[in-house]
Amino acid sequence: MSTAAHDERRGRHKVVIVGGGFGGVQAAKALKGADVDVTVVDRTNHHLFQPLLYQVATGILSPGLIAPALRRVLKTQRNVRTLLAEVGEIDVDNKVVHAAAPDGQHLDLPYDTLVVAAGATHAYFGHPEWAEHAPGMKSIEDARLLRSRILGAYELAEVSDDPAEQQAYMTFVVVGAGPTGVELAGQLSELARHVLPREYRSIDTRKARIVLLDAAPAVLPPFAKKLQRYTKKTLEEKGIEVRLDTMATDIDADSITVKGPKGEERIVARTKVWAAGVQASPLGAMLAKATGAEVDRAGRLPVDPDLALPDRRDIFAIGDMVSTIDRLPGVAQVAMQQGTYVGKLISARAKGDDTTPAPFQYFDKGSMATIGAREAVADVRGAKFTGWPGYLMWCYVHVMFLIGWGNRLGTLFNWVRSLRYARYRGHRLISVTANYDTEQHSGHPPEVVEHRAEVDPRTAPGRTAAS
Ligand SMILES: Cc1cc2nc3c(=O)[nH]c(=O)nc-3n(C[C@H](O)[C@H](O)[C@H](O)COP(=O)(O)OP(=O)(O)OC[C@H]3O[C@@H](n4cnc5c(N)ncnc54)[C@H](O)[C@@H]3O)c2cc1C
Repeated sequence: MSTAAHDERRGRHKVVIVGGGFGGVQAAKALKGADVDVTVVDRTNHHLFQPLLYQVATGILSPGLIAPALRRVLKTQRNVRTLLAEVGEIDVDNKVVHAAAPDGQHLDLPYDTLVVAAGATHAYFGHPEWAEHAPGMKSIEDARLLRSRILGAYELAEVSDDPAEQQAYMTFVVVGAGPTGVELAGQLSELARHVLPREYRSIDTRKARIVLLDAAPAVLPPFAKKLQRYTKKTLEEKGIEVRLDTMATDIDADSITVKGPKGEERIVARTKVWAAGVQASPLGAMLAKATGAEVDRAGRLPVDPDLALPDRRDIFAIGDMVSTIDRLPGVAQVAMQQGTYVGKLISARAKGDDTTPAPFQYFDKGSMATIGAREAVADVRGAKFTGWPGYLMWCYVHVMFLIGWGNRLGTLFNWVRSLRYARYRGHRLISVTANYDTEQHSGHPPEVVEHRAEVDPRTAPGRTAAS
């Protein structure tokens, strides 16, 4: 057991921040120069820009561009240290966070003030078994797995001589037509129609079937109706089947069964992607139990207007894992603004300012989503943009929110390259290798490639990892 001691100044106020995502990093930054010792603990070593995960999954960007090392992001703040460990328990009575380092070493992190910003994970509406067949996108590993599944499916279609099997490999179903589902479906179409066609000899990738389904009656549910109509029309022009009022009722390795206005249908598809429900981090339920609060159906923890837990001045919770009175959406801007608010509040208290803070107020800067290489929708404080103007706005906002000029320039370079030069995709390494099994294929000429390699890097130990 370790207390993970470091050069904390004796007696200084200790702040522990759980989670180095959008909320956690902003909270740490707002504590710059404050007379406190800050520990940011995260189970990954990077700060992930989730809005661009779909671009890693479809070969546009390399993972490093959207996931800089967390300790580098916070390196200039002398009062902050960063620890790679997973938080498993929080002892609110004794004010200690219990975590485990990657080697299993137990860490006890005492705090005076705790900020929990552990985000959310996928929710499969009571069907956790669907996760294996329809992975979601929350982490870099998820995006790399998806990239392997998507590009691996075309490889397997190319070596198949059975048209039905080829079609099964070339059918992609995305569940959930929110921004993530729309953006991913759009890029699947770009891949099939513009990026891959000239590279294969046995298959015509333009015949790929891409289905985007949602139980809601419209795509991009939170957006204005005009933008929803434009998005649906553009998706359909890109050859995507948009199925609304339609929900998944069963998912297995080979297919997905859906129920919509025309009844139930089984779609044979090897690649399914989950972009539907989310569930708050389990730390939310743990804190609720310890403090007598009650989480909502999505596992979100209720917080007071100053983002503290009810009746607790020493514990704040922010971002995707909380529900506020005004029911703010689970988006990066909310988490970032909440992080800044809480950081400033703790900083003020460290200076002796004990006045009751003004409640947190969200400033909505707008929402946007891409549909394809040059199409996007943007709603910026009431002004609606579509097509190129929307796309340029989307590019500007997203590139400016990336951390570090190197990552911004690298991302811009990849975007210009993918727009200008035949929608080139420079990051297509996948975790699929073909192994020739001599015993299985004895009698076959060695040049016949029949081995179907495992496409899930997490179930294929020892296979080459993608970049
Ligand atoms: C695919 C995708 C696309 C998105 N697109 C957009 C978009 O276009 N615009 C937008 O505004 N929002 C978008 N979002 C939502 C946005 O990313 C979230 O709202 C935001 O990340 C929430 O910030 P957070 O700090 O609450 O959580 P996160 O940013 O998720 O950070 C949580 C951190 O906590 C860490 N953590 C979790 N549990 C533990 C534990 N037990 N111990 C230690 N560390 C832990 C995680 O590793 C992570 O680093 C998207 C989300 C996804 C998944």
